[in-house]
Amino acid sequence: MTESILVVEDEVKIARLLQIELECEGYRVDIAGSGHEGLESYQNRQPDLILLDVMLPGFSGIELLRRIRLNDAHTPVLMLTAKGSVEDKVSGLDLGANDYITKPFQIEELLARVRAALRLASARTAAETVTDQWLKAEDLQLNETTREVIRAGRRIDLTPREFDLLVYLLKNKRQVLNREQIMTAVWGYDYYGDTNVVDVYIRYVRKKIDQGGQNELIHTVRGIGYVLKESQ
Ligand code: CA
Repeated sequence: MTESILVVEDEVKIARLLQIELECEGYRVDIAGSGHEGLESYQNRQPDLILLDVMLPGFSGIELLRRIRLNDAHTPVLMLTAKGSVEDKVSGLDLGANDYITKPFQIEELLARVRAALRLASARTAAETVTDQWLKAEDLQLNETTREVIRAGRRIDLTPREFDLLVYLLKNKRQVLNREQIMTAVWGYDYYGDTNVVDVYIRYVRKKIDQGGQNELIHTVRGIGYVLKESQ
């Protein structure tokens, strides 16, 4: 698969040089000459990597980076900065640039950095595929491997027991579960307590995941037990 690189650089000679060198390496290259063009090209082409000059007409490379990172934490961005411009480097890295290259640059070094950034990005994508075992209901997601729980982008801390309870509910989505079933599945047979503990823990989990005006996911089924279900 040909990897694509977006070069945002207003200096025509540099842009042209980068294009030739990168195409020689087998990349597909798009050139943009301003912040606006860069943003448009980024949105249309979804490049695998962005080489981004800081000083651009229109809005700066830093501003473009900020806009890209609003929705995209992953596409590698390598900043091209003027020599000695420490502030640009710092704000670029703060905003999520992956690396920076100082102008004037050695083309071999730039190509090596590009390869490294692309390799890192594809290794991460592969790792994410492996651990991408998310249980989901609407905007709630839970990862059994990493034990992360996220609702509407917000990370939620659950105790181990609350976590197990939520896993069980999510795995049995849309099924009405009675208290004994839940007790057995989450607490195990060796627990002879009264099933009120289920109600207590349901309340804890609800409080954490269903708070803040979000759709209720855990519903009480009167006289029977509970069900986790989406609203449509
Ligand atoms: Ca420039």
